Amino acid sequence: MAILAALSGFLRPPDCLACGAVGAWPCCSVCLPPEPAGPGPWRLAADPSVTLWTLGLYGDALRAAVLAGKLRGQAAALAALGRRLGALLLAAGVGADLVTWIAARPARGLPRDHARQVASGVAAALDLPLVDLLAPASGRDLGRARSRSRSARVADGAAPADPIGFRERNRIDTVPARPPPRVRYRLNGGRVLLVDDVATTGGTLAGAATALRRAGARQVEAAVLGASSGAFGPPVPEPGPLARSPRRGPP
Ligand SMILES: [Zn+2]
Repeated sequence: MAILAALSGFLRPPDCLACGAVGAWPCCSVCLPPEPAGPGPWRLAADPSVTLWTLGLYGDALRAAVLAGKLRGQAAALAALGRRLGALLLAAGVGADLVTWIAARPARGLPRDHARQVASGVAAALDLPLVDLLAPASGRDLGRARSRSRSARVADGAAPADPIGFRERNRIDTVPARPPPRVRYRLNGGRVLLVDDVATTGGTLAGAATALRRAGARQVEAAVLGASSGAFGPPVPEPGPLARSPRRGPP
């Protein structure tokens, strides 16, 4: 079984990861159009000073494809989706000097290097160096810790069971549940493109962006395969130097 599992990571299945369409690996043009409306720029809700780029909303086909890539151990699929993201960033004129990723500790003895695989595709498409800048954050898994702490606050009556609204919900849900990652090197300026597979609240990306800036990065932008609606902040108001066409956030 172990050999079969290992082989399945190397042998490319010919089908769309999301819908199973034959001969459409990693994603057919219905599930993931070759030219989505645009990868951004948006702002990260958890830190509006950070620009967020993404293939699209994390749901439906995109979610199915990312999960299939992660759960079936398809490193090549995640890298291919990363190349697609990188190609869109190239077309959008994104500017960066290097690419890094949100590192995660192994869980139950299995590596969790999905973000590195996505980042390798992004870096290849942009022809940028891929640098192992971030050491995995210590502490509990962010998602579980956050849901526990939030449910505990709801039980205490400290947090509303029904979020008041977009901003209030984001403010509550982006309370850091663990320390930000440690940056391995001092940075002498430079523009960092920070990659993760998915942004749920964006809290992890915001914490890492802060750590990178404190380590000396001049600019940090974030790129993910898919982002949940709560990760998107207000629309970018002005066309920045990195964006040719500003777009509003997704509906
Ligand atoms: Zn499909």
